[in-house]
Amino acid sequence: MRGRHWPHGAAVKAAVADGSGSSGPALDERERRLQLVAGLISVADEAPTVEEALRAALSLLCDHTGWQAGRLQFADEAGDLGGRTFWHLTRPESLASLRAVAEERRASLNDRSRPLQPHAEWVAIGEEQLQQSGAHAVFSVPVVVRGRLFVLLEFFSQDAQRPPDALLDVIAYGCTELGRILQRKPAEDALRRSEREYRALFENAHDGILITDPEDETVIDANQSACAIYGCLRSDLIGLPLHTLWKDPSHDRTRLKEALRGPSSRFESSHFRKDEQLIVVEVSAGPVEYQGRRALWMSVRDITEKLRTLEQLRVSEERYRHLFESSPQPMWVASGETNRFLEVNEAAVRRYGYTREQFAQMTTGELAATPLPESPDQEPQLEETTVAPTGATIWRHRTSAGESLHVEVTSHGIDFAGAKAMLVVANDVTERLRAEESLWHAAFFDALTGLPNRALFMERLSQTQTRMLATHDGGFAVLFLDIDRFKVINDSLGHRAGDVLLVQIAQRLEKIRRAGDTVARLGGDEFAVLVEEVHDHAEAVLVAERIHNELAVPFDLSEEQGPPEVFSSASIGIALGRKADGSHQPAEELLRDADTAMYRAKGHGAGQHALFDVAMHDHAVAVLQMESDLRRAIDREELRVFFQPIVALPEGRIVGFEALCRWPHRTRGWIPPGDFIPLAEETGLIGRVDRWVLEEACKRMCEFQQINPRKGDLTLSVNLSGRELLQHDLADQVAAILKRTGLSPKSLRLEITESVLVENEAQARRCLSSLKELGVALCLDDFGTGYSSLSYLHRMPVDAIKVDVSFVRTMGSDEKNRRIVESVVLLGKKLGLEVVAEGVETPSQAAQLLLLGCTLAQGYLYGAPFDAETAKHHLRQREGRAFTVDGSSATNP
Ligand code: C2E
Ligand code: MG
Ligand code: MG
Repeated sequence: MRGRHWPHGAAVKAAVADGSGSSGPALDERERRLQLVAGLISVADEAPTVEEALRAALSLLCDHTGWQAGRLQFADEAGDLGGRTFWHLTRPESLASLRAVAEERRASLNDRSRPLQPHAEWVAIGEEQLQQSGAHAVFSVPVVVRGRLFVLLEFFSQDAQRPPDALLDVIAYGCTELGRILQRKPAEDALRRSEREYRALFENAHDGILITDPEDETVIDANQSACAIYGCLRSDLIGLPLHTLWKDPSHDRTRLKEALRGPSSRFESSHFRKDEQLIVVEVSAGPVEYQGRRALWMSVRDITEKLRTLEQLRVSEERYRHLFESSPQPMWVASGETNRFLEVNEAAVRRYGYTREQFAQMTTGELAATPLPESPDQEPQLEETTVAPTGATIWRHRTSAGESLHVEVTSHGIDFAGAKAMLVVANDVTERLRAEESLWHAAFFDALTGLPNRALFMERLSQTQTRMLATHDGGFAVLFLDIDRFKVINDSLGHRAGDVLLVQIAQRLEKIRRAGDTVARLGGDEFAVLVEEVHDHAEAVLVAERIHNELAVPFDLSEEQGPPEVFSSASIGIALGRKADGSHQPAEELLRDADTAMYRAKGHGAGQHALFDVAMHDHAVAVLQMESDLRRAIDREELRVFFQPIVALPEGRIVGFEALCRWPHRTRGWIPPGDFIPLAEETGLIGRVDRWVLEEACKRMCEFQQINPRKGDLTLSVNLSGRELLQHDLADQVAAILKRTGLSPKSLRLEITESVLVENEAQARRCLSSLKELGVALCLDDFGTGYSSLSYLHRMPVDAIKVDVSFVRTMGSDEKNRRIVESVVLLGKKLGLEVVAEGVETPSQAAQLLLLGCTLAQGYLYGAPFDAETAKHHLRQREGRAFTVDGSSATNP
């Protein structure tokens, strides 16, 4: 704190003397003036600012003199205050009129031609102004600072009488002193202000600040932040030896010594808080002069938390870097602006074959060519089903070695080292796409022929239908092909040859396929052709004929050890896409219709075609109904076995029975085997029918034999479907039935039709041989109706042949048939086979047969097929009697 500046005693005395020399009241007056001067000096000294000092002086003077108003008029040169005015008013309402007076005076004050009035002056004011302001005079007194007018003090007096000159002199003197003090004041203010400001800075600094004594290493001063950092009060810190804070005193001491040499140094250290918790601080220190002595200034920042965060950041960054680097999927970071690679991971380096250095020189565009064109190799119709629904874009990339990759790219915008970048994950889907493609191919194409399969065919069929419906125009046809007697090829030449034939057929169909049409393999030996732009039956038939012609050329299967010339043909069913009435039907139904028509074509023989019509459909439906009925009939054992006697000519003695199956249908009555056996064969139900008939017939036969005294002589003939001969375990099954029923194998004769033998010679022979080994006799049924090849007859281990009904019935009228019967009888004799004539209806037929040397007969002449009970009845009746050639009963000799 600086000392007060007091005025010199002598000058004051001179100033306060009023010249009267009298004592008493004059003395009091002097005393008061002295006090005025002292007061002026005091306020000037103590007021913090120039402005406040002058305001206080103004107020003091008005109070002392009783003047109504005072005014400060700062000169333009008065720095910050330049040109400003301040009023002190005892009556504020007089401001306006007083201001007018002041304005007028001011104009004259600024008149540079007039020399500055170094002294105070008392001026009476004009009448007009007096009336308005109520002031009789203005006393003005200048305050001069550094030789220049700084401010003019003006006082307005209501008193017309001029005050004593002594008073005015005192005031003038006081103002001169005021000027002198003010001359110093700005400088002092600045210092104090800056001191205050620095203190405030010190106190409010965010960093902790310690002022320390470098000699005894103690704290001299500390700010609030330092207190907060060290968790203590200022009083704890002041005077505290620094080593109480230090964890490693030698470290801090050395660094502070360096700092003391200046200009400043910065270091990190570990310090103790008051609660002994260790904190990491960043210290900046440097020499400073503090309160006149050399000190060390230390700025301390607690960076414990910051370091912890940095560490966490480092760890997490390391973790991410590890993830990035160890990811099995290629990843990279590319600049958002230039597309340059900024970072690549190991997987990217490995997969793409570029080094990190090479990558650093490249842009992403150099890898990525184009987005994968929409499945170029795929069938356009099925695109949707093959595009992976991941949403990610698939790109075709190239490795450094030129290998093409398909990658599914996902990218995310990231901030990388302060710039925009893309983090890209490139999932290599080359293998997956390849697998999908082959899966797709497997799902929609036939592996053997490479043709579209049923699923794809149906898809195309639907699309064609949709298109046709949309355009209300055009038409199309579906051709269903079934290769005739394909099974023969397969069974005789082997499956490999069969496959080669199918492939060659596929190639030929493809060859004549028009663009836009579809040839498909539906499975097995079935093909389908979807023919577009076909408007009527005639056009469709033309296509079928073209196929027939193409297939008529012999096939060469020699590469599979097959013959170089194999003939094949197909039965073709045709269904038109647009019905006559313009209606349309589901794809499945259309294919089914073509299939139905194909069956009809097959019925007409090999290499034929048929157009679907509604009657076919009805028939097909009826067949379907019958199939399900038959299945139920078998399940419920509703079938029946009838027995037709076989007699020995000429006497007509019953030597056996043929078992014939009958189906008593719930609604349709008795259905003959001719109507349901082919259906059973087609649907695979025949096996169950035949085995059931065999077992049932064997049981009954045992009963018949009980009635017949020549038990063993009575034979049972049972029909066996040719399909059964393809069953490897047929002989075992027959043996089991014989065992169960107790019928001797010698009593059983199995009848088969020759067509089966022709189609599957090798297997049929194997099967027949094993049946023969059981001791069962074999009979070739319906002889003469099929191929009737002598060589087959010779090669097959048969015991008997049956001349077909068709020849026997007409032998009386048809000479040719009579001769056929004769030849068959002769042939049988030559080969040592029994010959049975079927369908003997008249005695004359029987007589003719006898004449031709046929000794066994069967026919209505001797009895229609009866049920078992009737057959037994007949047996009993006929026991001891025989049929004569004319069919009437005769007593057995
Ligand atoms: P099939 O084995 O040649 O049987 C002889 C057929 O001629 C029988 O017809 C029989 O009723 C008929 N028939 C007998 N005598 C005369 C006659 O004097 N004049 C005429 N016009 N026909 C006569 P059915 O019973 O209708 O059997 C037809 C065919 O069905 C059989 O011909 C046989 O191939 C097959 N079949 C019958 N039952 C079975 C069976 O259980 N299993 C198998 N797989 N086929 C059977
Ligand atoms: Mg038969
Ligand atoms: Mg027959």
